[in-house]
Amino acid sequence: MDSALCHFFRCQCGAELQLPEPMLQRLAAHLGVLPKDVTSVALSCHHCKLVQAYALPAIDARISPVKGLSWFWRELPCGEKGCQSPLTVIAVRNATTMTEEECDKDFATWEWGDELRCPHGHPIAQANTRRYL
Ligand SMILES: [Zn+2]
Ligand SMILES: [Zn+2]
Repeated sequence: MDSALCHFFRCQCGAELQLPEPMLQRLAAHLGVLPKDVTSVALSCHHCKLVQAYALPAIDARISPVKGLSWFWRELPCGEKGCQSPLTVIAVRNATTMTEEECDKDFATWEWGDELRCPHGHPIAQANTRRYL
């Protein structure tokens, strides 16, 4: 795939985050919902690694090149006792391929934004995200 419809978001650091539609579809399938029912998406910035939730539809969506992009996701456990709904965070990177080890190294550098919540609206506890490593 050379190009695809992409959703664009703006990180606090100024970097433009690109989420190709096929990734959104896979996320929706993973969550067991329709793509149109995904109202927000948590992304890790490729530049500053900050994890933030972004509302959908995005401020901007257009056909854009996706060749040379890799992506992976990690699930952050909910901070609420007994809640089994993790927050799925997507990372899109400029890399043709990424090994599992490279993904883990990248994940270890993530910064946690405010207001990270599980699909049920519970806060994601930073202690929990650390325990996940
Ligand atoms: Zn950033
Ligand atoms: Zn929860």
